[in-house]
Amino acid sequence: MLRLDSDAQYVKGVGPRRAALLASRNIRNVEQLLLHLPKSYQDRAHFISLSALRIGQDAAVHARVYRSRIIQTRTRGRILDVILTDGSSFVHAKWFHGGYLQTREFSAGREVVLFGRVDFDRYESKFVFFNPEFELLDEGEDSTSLDLGRYVPVYEEVGGITSRQLRHIIAAALADLPKDINDPLPEDIRASHNFPDLRTCLERVHFPETDDDIGKLNQRRSPYHRRLIFEEFFLLELIFALRRLESRSREGVRFETSERIRQLVKMILPFHPTGAQKRVLKEIVADLKAPYPMMRLLQGDVGSGKTIVAFEAIVIAVANKYQAALMAPTEILAEQHFLNAKRILTPLSYRIAVVRRGIKKAEKQELLEKIASGEIQVIVGTHALIEEHTVFKNLGLVIIDEQHRFGVVQRLQLMAKGKSPNTLVMTATPIPRTLAMTLYGDLDLSVIDEMPPGRSPIRTLHAVERDGESVYRMIANELNQGRQAYVVYPVIEESEKIDLKSATEGFKKLLTIFTGRSVALLHGRMKSEEKEQTMAAFAAGQIHVLVSTTVIEVGVDVANATVMLIEHAERFGLAQLHQLRGRVGRGAHQSLCVLMTPSRLNDVARERIRAMVSTTDGFRLAEVDLELRGPGEMAGTRQSGIPEFRVANLITDGELLSLAQKEAQRFADRSEERGKLIEALSGKARLVTVG
Ligand code: ADP
Ligand code: MG
Repeated sequence: MLRLDSDAQYVKGVGPRRAALLASRNIRNVEQLLLHLPKSYQDRAHFISLSALRIGQDAAVHARVYRSRIIQTRTRGRILDVILTDGSSFVHAKWFHGGYLQTREFSAGREVVLFGRVDFDRYESKFVFFNPEFELLDEGEDSTSLDLGRYVPVYEEVGGITSRQLRHIIAAALADLPKDINDPLPEDIRASHNFPDLRTCLERVHFPETDDDIGKLNQRRSPYHRRLIFEEFFLLELIFALRRLESRSREGVRFETSERIRQLVKMILPFHPTGAQKRVLKEIVADLKAPYPMMRLLQGDVGSGKTIVAFEAIVIAVANKYQAALMAPTEILAEQHFLNAKRILTPLSYRIAVVRRGIKKAEKQELLEKIASGEIQVIVGTHALIEEHTVFKNLGLVIIDEQHRFGVVQRLQLMAKGKSPNTLVMTATPIPRTLAMTLYGDLDLSVIDEMPPGRSPIRTLHAVERDGESVYRMIANELNQGRQAYVVYPVIEESEKIDLKSATEGFKKLLTIFTGRSVALLHGRMKSEEKEQTMAAFAAGQIHVLVSTTVIEVGVDVANATVMLIEHAERFGLAQLHQLRGRVGRGAHQSLCVLMTPSRLNDVARERIRAMVSTTDGFRLAEVDLELRGPGEMAGTRQSGIPEFRVANLITDGELLSLAQKEAQRFADRSEERGKLIEALSGKARLVTVG
């Protein structure tokens, strides 16, 4: 008898050689083998007689080879042409890139199953299948019950093990598995969602019965699929739920929010918060008042107004006599937060400082002392904040902006500077909810899903080279109305390797186009001070056209800039384009973003541009990005491990993920032996890489 955790090589028909092939695809034990689900199902319960074939029909036929030959053509290479008969009639099957298919496999009399669309070969005046899926059956072997007369599973090959071989291996594994295998899903959860038990699911997902719905099977929506997908999500979400519970049972910094403090928070507000900002602040305040340390992720699209929410939390921390630290990924952004902090917190005259990398030693020493003594209440900085010599007196609130630019480790390092401080991580790279739930599942999630009032949506245009002049005219038009412009390039300098327009060259050219305007260049190789001066001059309106690389990507906030031209937009990822575009449309004026590309684009680039033109909704764009690139390549996720699912798919199974999260939370809440559960779950083979 096998067990789910038995080595795959003990399954009948596997052996060491195939076991190695399976292992190369991460299939090592019986459970993993059984979770190699069919890619589709064929209806071989209903074969169509060759005499009854109709043109255009998708048909499965069961026949024998009558004759086969290779036809050598001048234009289409080798074609394998096989004539089949089932006694009632004949049909041709032709494979066009048939160089690898040999006539000897299709020897006369060989039993074959074909699956494909019936076509008419005018040349031969016969019915023909072009490049059909096929399976050669072996004489004598008892194959019929698995391969014929039923809905048959079709598998993606694994290292040369064919679909049919896998079918037989999987059938052998199921046959050797005890009838009652342990089901990790709690019974009441199964019952309330009509999920069949694990054993039934494993059997029927591979070998469905004819009363199963083959349409649903093919869409991975059969009850068996749904349950297996749910289970995979459930186990992951259960770990997260338990971790959240665990962190809630820890003693953290606890803040009071008296009427006085509420008044202080109100004093800093330069505008009426949006409904979303209010809701999110409420969620944050609930955490701050609770005995456990806050662990919250604040998601909000570019320009949705996360900053003020962060500062509200800062006021609560400082009013409770704690220090607050705000860490940003770049100097420019840290500087901007510092300026914001000084401006927004003016009414409260807090002592605020920014820790820069390049400051002079003596000055830095003095600053560090003031932080250590508690004199400085609000500390803004880059990675410098987590350097060893930065010591806080009583760090009660940690805010990390643009979370995805930092690793989990850096988050923890900053948190370690206090005693279980309240932690808020913010990200302006919207990621689809499904990804957030699998990536940051140990954090509570708040989302600002509403833009501040008075914004007119950014108009986005796609332009190609020959539109250049009219694009410059549009920019000039904005400048004439007193507005400012960004022009973004993918590289600083031209190189011989790739043929790209560069910021340096572009700058020279734009100087000649926008004569009489102040045009400036900004890029990552400039000195920090120089960059800051340039940014400050742009913010002050002294520079009209800012030519730059992606250094302006994050967080820069100049409301008077209303037009952005992105050169070689095809070179940028969707998240990056969205971030860049978010630099305009920050004020009341209608803004414009022009995406300039060569006229020939590959499919993915074209889809990206199309998405950018059609929506400004960052969450929608993130979803498109997820579809175009898959979870592993999503911006903002590379540093943290996304679990690799065997059966679940984040793009199509979001609904089951939400359900699993809800059930996992409920289960964790009522479970009495959480500690044991965590241990048992962490060892589960299914969860390959849980961060
Ligand atoms: P992000 O979420 O990208 O960090 P910011 O916090 O920088 O966005 O806010 C973008 C702009 O919107 C800022 O200029 C900010 O002052 C303004 N803003 C934010 N919230 C509101 C609001 N409720 N009403 C009006 N303006 C707002
Ligand atoms: Mg921001």
